[in-house]
Amino acid sequence: MSTYDVAIVGAGVIGTTIARELMHYDLKVVLLEKGDDVAVGTTKANSAIVHAGYDAPSHTLKGQLNVLGNAMYDALSEELDVPFKRIGSLVIARDASETATLEQLLENGKRLHIPGLEIIDGARAHEMEPHLSGKAVAALYAPSAGITEPWEVAVAACENAMDNGAELKLGFEVLTIDQTAESFTLNAAEESVKAKWVINAAGVYADQIYRMVAGERETFKITPRRGQYYLLDKEAGGFVNHVVFPCPGPMGKGVLIAPTAHGNVIIGPDSQNLSESDKEATETTSDRLAYVKASAASLMDDIPFHLNITTFAGLRGEPEGDDFIIEASAEVERFINVAGIKSPGLSAAPAIAVRVAETIKALMPSIKTNPAFNPIRRPRIRLAEMTAEERDAQIEKDPRFGHMICRCEMITEGEIVDAIHRNAGGRTLNGIKRRARPGAGRCQGGFCGPRVMEILARELSCDVTDIRQEGKESVILTGKMGKGGRS
Ligand SMILES: Cc1cc2nc3c(=O)[nH]c(=O)nc-3n(C[C@H](O)[C@H](O)[C@H](O)COP(=O)(O)OP(=O)(O)OC[C@H]3O[C@@H](n4cnc5c(N)ncnc54)[C@H](O)[C@@H]3O)c2cc1C
Repeated sequence: MSTYDVAIVGAGVIGTTIARELMHYDLKVVLLEKGDDVAVGTTKANSAIVHAGYDAPSHTLKGQLNVLGNAMYDALSEELDVPFKRIGSLVIARDASETATLEQLLENGKRLHIPGLEIIDGARAHEMEPHLSGKAVAALYAPSAGITEPWEVAVAACENAMDNGAELKLGFEVLTIDQTAESFTLNAAEESVKAKWVINAAGVYADQIYRMVAGERETFKITPRRGQYYLLDKEAGGFVNHVVFPCPGPMGKGVLIAPTAHGNVIIGPDSQNLSESDKEATETTSDRLAYVKASAASLMDDIPFHLNITTFAGLRGEPEGDDFIIEASAEVERFINVAGIKSPGLSAAPAIAVRVAETIKALMPSIKTNPAFNPIRRPRIRLAEMTAEERDAQIEKDPRFGHMICRCEMITEGEIVDAIHRNAGGRTLNGIKRRARPGAGRCQGGFCGPRVMEILARELSCDVTDIRQEGKESVILTGKMGKGGRS
């Protein structure tokens, strides 16, 4: 059985950024993920905003780590070669009571030292966002808010952690955990690993993971709260310039309208509490999507919903106490819970990772630093972003970069092959879409999907019928037609 210093359960943006942070130290680290890729839980379906941080009360972990995490995103995006644009956000007030809410958010933001926060009048807000509803009378402007791609952050953090020595085990669903005085044994169906420390970063399942070691003791509950979205085509890209929010309410920040880091427009999410057992309920529903549409229409006029290319839903992991749970368990030694990481978890992720590493360091003072740690991920080649001369040179070097596979997003065979062969490389159709974007455009993979499957099968030396969309059950091809197959 393999033995590690630290086992992290869950390879979402939280588990992967923690793994990367721990590689600053001389530790043997393994990430255990039940899915067939990283970033397949909440991390793959959210608003992708790096919030400025004025919403959560200043005394909470959510508030403090959001602001710290936000400030870390410029360096993170440089080091990991992931998109990040500090485009700023506007919270819109449509009457006097909402203007009073803006004042409260501003005060909270000042306590957290958020840079550049100000309340602007309706005229300036309309100048910044020409499609804003005529009802807008004022706005809270937060220039430090930004947009990124959450799964790209997780994939890149995982790749960089692995480049620095961490291991990733996919398809490893932790089913039970045995504990001795010295270590834990984490058991999946066909494999076990031993680790001195466990970090529980299992998203909506974090309560179940903790129950595996806490026994009869009182534990926390994580309840899914679903949010649904529209994603508009890049043709709608210029419709909105900032992240535009309504005033927040008891169920969260409300339905926002924002550009995405790759130039689409995202609209959502609603907020719907599900039952504790609904931890996979990521289906969209027509009634909730209609609510999202109506909410957005009360914020901005003439939203081009006819340019919608897909809808999707994600699950927030709601903790009972409404704040992040980031602590070494008082009852179970060497077990750290990083649970209830709902929004602003993506924004706070780099700061959460530092906090967890500091917790381990405080409890294990003999831990040595790793002088060989390299924070820089090898940059990706993106043909669509190159000059004509750069493209020619790249194609000369490797003709696969001259073979266009996805015409919507301009993605070549060379980029897909690279996405497969890096550490934490893609193995599924959705995995390649998350890394290199074939299938993320207008046709949603209708044209390029079969060609990406052929490349995956060739590079992974398997049959094309073995390639999945996402997860074991998502079979795409069941057999071959004609000679040697079904006729
Ligand atoms: C609708 C919505 C909008 C949001 N918008 C924003 C936003 O704009 N900005 C922001 O900052 N935050 C936002 N968030 C929050 C953010 O998405 C989350 O905080 C973040 O993605 C949580 O990451 P995670 O790694 O904790 O969880 P996950 O991404 O869910 O990762 C947990 C992983 O654990 C794995 N796992 C579970 N059980 C096991 C097991 N038994 N064995 C092995 N692996 C297991 C899962 O497969 C999963 O991959 C939003 C969330 C939602 C749902």
